[in-house]
Amino acid sequence: MSMQQEYDYLFKILLIGNSAVGKSSLLLRFADNVFNESFLPTIGVDFKIRTFDLNGKTVKLQIWDTAGQERFKTITNSYYKGAHGIILVYDVTDKQSFKDVENWLAEVEKYANENVVRVLVGNKVDLESKREVTFEEGKELADSLNIRFIETSAKNSSNVEKAFITLANEIKAKVAKSSE
Ligand code: GDP
Ligand code: MG
Repeated sequence: MSMQQEYDYLFKILLIGNSAVGKSSLLLRFADNVFNESFLPTIGVDFKIRTFDLNGKTVKLQIWDTAGQERFKTITNSYYKGAHGIILVYDVTDKQSFKDVENWLAEVEKYANENVVRVLVGNKVDLESKREVTFEEGKELADSLNIRFIETSAKNSSNVEKAFITLANEIKAKVAKSSE
């Protein structure tokens, strides 16, 4: 008996960044299209799945949330293992979370596959009056890393789809290229 595979691509995506920047909120918005005002406590490692069409191909994203372990700065090898893409998240109203992107990048470099596709996301742009990191600062960092940069709001849905789909597109392009 043969099983029909219900997707063309399956990509493992990780959400990385300081606690409270909105990783779980971005995941919930993207996977379930909901938002919660309270901090979302998660125990253990957790992931959600969303399948969608990308230029005629069915892409299944398995998106892993660091689930609070970011506080301990020791997300293990197994979390990074097999990851195709990483969303590096900071909070535009929290300068420290932006400065700490550097530490997350070092961790990614240490544990992730060298081909992993990264995108930089500045979240909480709905809180414009509290902004501490300008668009230009985020863009400059992303440009220096040669990665894409997107500002989002999990609260009002702004650019959340775009962030995940941009990443999926880049991974798909890379996979297609490597299998030519
Ligand atoms: P995590 O620790 O990175 O997973 O962060 P959470 O997703 O738990 O979010 C931390 C807090 O920030 C919660 O109170 C969320 O409601 C809030 N939050 C997350 N994203 C946004 C956003 O885009 N705008 C606003 N205003 N608040 C947000
Ligand atoms: Mg969380």
